[in-house]
Amino acid sequence: MAYDTNNIFAKILRGEIPNDTVYEDEHVLAFRDIRPQARVHVLLIPKGAYESLEDFSAKASEAEIVAFTRAIATVSKLAGTDVTGYRAIANTGADGHQEVPHFHLHLLGGQRIGRMVSLPE
Ligand code: AMP
Repeated sequence: MAYDTNNIFAKILRGEIPNDTVYEDEHVLAFRDIRPQARVHVLLIPKGAYESLEDFSAKASEAEIVAFTRAIATVSKLAGTDVTGYRAIANTGADGHQEVPHFHLHLLGGQRIGRMVSLPE
């Protein structure tokens, strides 16, 4: 599937819609989720056009992968979850219930997050 350049995170990266930025560098942007599901809910995205974790993992350059991984700790410190902990989630594809087709890592914390997964009945 081709990357959809009209997805909402692509628009954020192009500056077409605003975001509540937590951190930014050459390869990564982190911003607060518009519908937070925990006291801390930050999304980390690569600036490159990767539609999912699967796509990013297979195709991103080493520089992009290193920058993204390092940004997790940086953002966690900025968000205050580095000591108390958090959950990192990358919903991927249809079974993973991914809604926005630009790779993003959810960082959820600031409180106890609860059980790991809930499967439909
Ligand atoms: P997912 O289901 O993993 O694709 O999650 C997409 C996430 O993007 C959801 O948690 C949404 O609340 C969030 N989201 C959608 N639009 C925006 C936006 N404009 N700014 C920040 N977060 C957004």
